[in-house]
Amino acid sequence: MVELEKCLYRCVNCGWEKTLNTGFYAHCPKCKHILVISYEELETKNLKSTLPGIWRYSSFLPEFRVKPSLGEGGTPVRRGKKLEKKLGLAKLFLKDETKNPTGAFTDRGAALITAFSLHNSFQSITSITGGNIAASLATYCAAFGVEFTAIFRAPVDLEKLYMITACGGYVTSDPKNSRGFIVKPSNPFLVEGYKTISFEIHEYSKRLPDVIIAPVGHGSLTYALWKGFEELGEVGLITRKPFLVGVEVGKTRTAEDGATEEKKCSFISSELSVPQPAWRNALKEIVSKGEACLINVSDEEVVEGLRLLAAFEGLLVETASATAVSGLIKALNNGIIRKNQSIMLVVTGSGLKNPRTFIRILEKRFIDTCENELNRPSRISIEILNMLSEGSLHGYKIWKKLYTKGYNITLQAVYYHLKRLEEIGLIRRIVTRPRKTYVITRDGLEFLKNIL
Ligand SMILES: [Zn+2]
Repeated sequence: MVELEKCLYRCVNCGWEKTLNTGFYAHCPKCKHILVISYEELETKNLKSTLPGIWRYSSFLPEFRVKPSLGEGGTPVRRGKKLEKKLGLAKLFLKDETKNPTGAFTDRGAALITAFSLHNSFQSITSITGGNIAASLATYCAAFGVEFTAIFRAPVDLEKLYMITACGGYVTSDPKNSRGFIVKPSNPFLVEGYKTISFEIHEYSKRLPDVIIAPVGHGSLTYALWKGFEELGEVGLITRKPFLVGVEVGKTRTAEDGATEEKKCSFISSELSVPQPAWRNALKEIVSKGEACLINVSDEEVVEGLRLLAAFEGLLVETASATAVSGLIKALNNGIIRKNQSIMLVVTGSGLKNPRTFIRILEKRFIDTCENELNRPSRISIEILNMLSEGSLHGYKIWKKLYTKGYNITLQAVYYHLKRLEEIGLIRRIVTRPRKTYVITRDGLEFLKNIL
């Protein structure tokens, strides 16, 4: 364990430093940039201690008086054989972070932040960031007797709010209600917790994967993975780092140099809709060294990733985790990575935590299906158009003709199809007594000509 006098806050931009026993700095006082924790000297002895949770890797963590753990970390790595075969890959591994106490990797960061708070005798923690971090912090605060407040901004994830309030946390949208130790996505202790994923990958893999793919919201996870491997390299435990692929959702670059960037909102994941990722500049640094790359995927690609993980590996994950699969497919297609490399996906969180996301996906699917139905007539509708191209007919006659052709549908359903065809202008209704007659329009004839 590293004594606090030998742990430093270090600005990744200007190099400003201060030891950890001097309190907390939210950002660099000189240039306002984010801070990371660096260690004057790392030792390999006692690398794998018998302490619970992430504290197993205490020799790479600051020495806090209390080491709170709810059994976070120690998550399994498993081979994704079916998905591997489906995508034609040599080796695919899944680091299954859904097995953490609250079903997400953020528990690792929550353990570190709770330790820092208890060490400094803070009675209260406020999370400025919603989502999984807030849910993890609420859980740890409840278990270790710290008061917790979450400041939420729209769109609100109701499932996370439920977890927080169930754990006795206070939820508000007013930042004036912040109390005690304030946790933002840029908090360096989150990274210190998350980096233990790299230690576990190193400890439990016979050979480090060539590529690791992880989702990017604020970017702290991807940065932490890099930092973990960097520290293992510093003490001589590894000689090469895996290449990291960070996957964002719905981001558009508006300038080649990256100076002006805009991040679109994601329809299906509020967790990944981050307008200004806190760790972006730090990530750019490792991208410029050629040790990582960032790619972005669409909502549709995320939904496909979700389906693949569930259908081929039995893993129901949150949308953020599904971006890793979407990113994998995209990185292969773009030639960023190769099929013969060994690839690991960090599956960050369980889908059981946010069923509303699945409902949103289903709603979108339903809307898409309806839109398709409107824009593209069904087989029965085409059959009706064919009949009308030979002459006008009334509804009952159309139904009889369809019946003799083997279509077992009700008269009511025939009128439904006629109504749809009329709405999109392919047929017209003429009111003649005693029945209404339908005729095909010029657009209807044109449509038939194009599909034949
Ligand atoms: Zn600075």
